Amino acid sequence: MAGKIVLTRKAEKRLSGGHPWIFAGEIERAEVPEGPGAIVDVFTAQQQFWGRGYWNPQSQIRVRLLTRKLEAIDAAFFHRQISQSWAYRQKIGYTESCRVVFAEADGLPALIVDKFGDYVVLQTLALGMDRWKQVIVEIIEDILHPNGLYERNDAPVRTLEGLPLKKGFLSAPFDTRIQIEENGLHFWVDVENGQKTGYFLDQRENRKAIAPFVKDAEILEAFCYTGGFTCHAAAYGARHITAIDASSEALELATENAILNEVREKCTFIQANAFDLLKQWASEKKSFDVVMLDPPAFAKSRQQIQSAITGYREINLRALKMVRPGGFLITSSCTNLISVDLFMQILQKAAMDARRNIRQVVFHTQAPDHPIVWHIESTAYLKFLILQVY
Ligand code: SAH
Repeated sequence: MAGKIVLTRKAEKRLSGGHPWIFAGEIERAEVPEGPGAIVDVFTAQQQFWGRGYWNPQSQIRVRLLTRKLEAIDAAFFHRQISQSWAYRQKIGYTESCRVVFAEADGLPALIVDKFGDYVVLQTLALGMDRWKQVIVEIIEDILHPNGLYERNDAPVRTLEGLPLKKGFLSAPFDTRIQIEENGLHFWVDVENGQKTGYFLDQRENRKAIAPFVKDAEILEAFCYTGGFTCHAAAYGARHITAIDASSEALELATENAILNEVREKCTFIQANAFDLLKQWASEKKSFDVVMLDPPAFAKSRQQIQSAITGYREINLRALKMVRPGGFLITSSCTNLISVDLFMQILQKAAMDARRNIRQVVFHTQAPDHPIVWHIESTAYLKFLILQVY
């Protein structure tokens, strides 16, 4: 018999918005004989069927719903869902390197599937999804026929689910340095040692969007990682790019990517803490035609929002000070807890403090292989702005 969860009356109100997560405090009663990771049926306080999902009593997110229908959760269910996700990417022409499954936004909570050419990287970030890993691997092999599959389950969020951190091959071993193509450029992706799954596919459109703003420009880029924006800027005609990152491994790959795209002579890579270096250079009155910022997420929980705001204000303030009049600040935020409005307010305040005027010339979110479901706030995370600075 499937486990049974009964919601509190209050929970129903919030959940009717469509969010798939059920928190600890929203459960009136739980009877789950199979224990953690099991599929459970969820009912309202009035005993109406609400949906079906997976259960983890160790996580604050007790249930993540997989369906609102009375349908079996089995290999066929995952096959249908993943086929549907892939069909959408095929329809929009995102097939070579793309996010094939974007978790909650594709109806598969906590499952990430990234495709890099002929290779696939997988993350099962919750216990209930991790249980289906082998089934998912077989489905991916059936649908995508990859040359190899790798798991990057070393993401720290797994500890909130009581899951171990691990990474490794889910297929026969292969060379984990993979070359991909993006907007006509080529990049090395290290799926074993890179950050997250190895490459930030969500900025694909945004890297392309910088083209008109970087021609002939002298550029400063902070948080360059493996040189995605750097190489694009150089290929789009920038005069020179000074690119900073804290990670020496990222910079090694960035250097190789610059060589691969034949733009090495236009790039200077510097290993440094961007906060310190931007502060120093701004006070030394260094200036650039364009400054690009793409820091990592600054807040993973609500308690960290204030320090995230301070972090964004600080780096954007320093950057704004260094942009030559008429030049551009290209700035991103991938913290989902910082809303679009809040990010714009932070930028406005930073501009005031820097005594600069700004006007928005581009505003984007993430690439369409990372769809946004409005009632699942965590799916809307990337803010990308190009501001002209006076
Ligand atoms: N723009 C990149 C992605 C950036 S990811 C792209 O398009 O691929 C964020 C990067 O910030 C990581 O490479 C990380 O190493 C770097 N980073 C984190 N904290 C930093 C700090 N304090 N100073 C400099 N770099 C930092």
